[in-house]
Formats: sequence, structure tokens, C-alpha cells
Amino acid sequence: MKRNYTGCAICDSTWGNLWEEVEGERMFFCCATCVVQFRRLVGRIKEETGWPTLESLDIVGDRRGRTCVAQAGTETLSVFVTFNSDGELLRFETLGSP
Ligand SMILES: [Zn+2]
Repeated sequence: MKRNYTGCAICDSTWGNLWEEVEGERMFFCCATCVVQFRRLVGRIKEETGWPTLESLDIVGDRRGRTCVAQAGTETLSVFVTFNSDGELLRFETLGSP
């Protein structure tokens, strides 16, 4: 999965040393909460779109809210999400095509 961040897959932090397999790929995360957030986000996008897998995921924002653009083949999905302190999705709003 292509991502716009080189650090943590959710927040781009470079501190921490947590590697977790998501979607068959080992990814770097700063903390366990970000792992939960990323899994919930990817899972929800797949659920909403019916895509078997995501080819790319760009994330912009911070803990107050993140705008994510997911892409698979020729399809894209933009969503605005927020998470609670456990990393579970609080808001998941489809923004339509970018
Ligand atoms: Zn993080």
C-alpha cells in the first residue's frame, strides 16, 4: 500500500519502534493506538467500498481530525475521520471524490 507518510502510518511520527503487519505488509507505527487507528480506518474503507485491498492511502491532519484519500484501481474515496483515545473510529464521513 502506497502511503504519503514515511514515519508512522497514521501520524507520521518517527519516534517509536513498532512494526505491525497490516494488509499483508509490515508497517511502521509510533504506538499501539496508531496501529488500532490504522486497522480500523483500512477496515472501514474496505467495508464502505467493497474493495478487496487498498492501493494507496494518503492521510492529512492531526488528532482533531484526519482527511484520508484512499485509492484502488481507478476508484478513489475521500473521508474525514476522528478516533477516540482507544483508537476506535468516532467519525467516518465520506467526502466524495477529491
Ligand atoms: Zn503514530
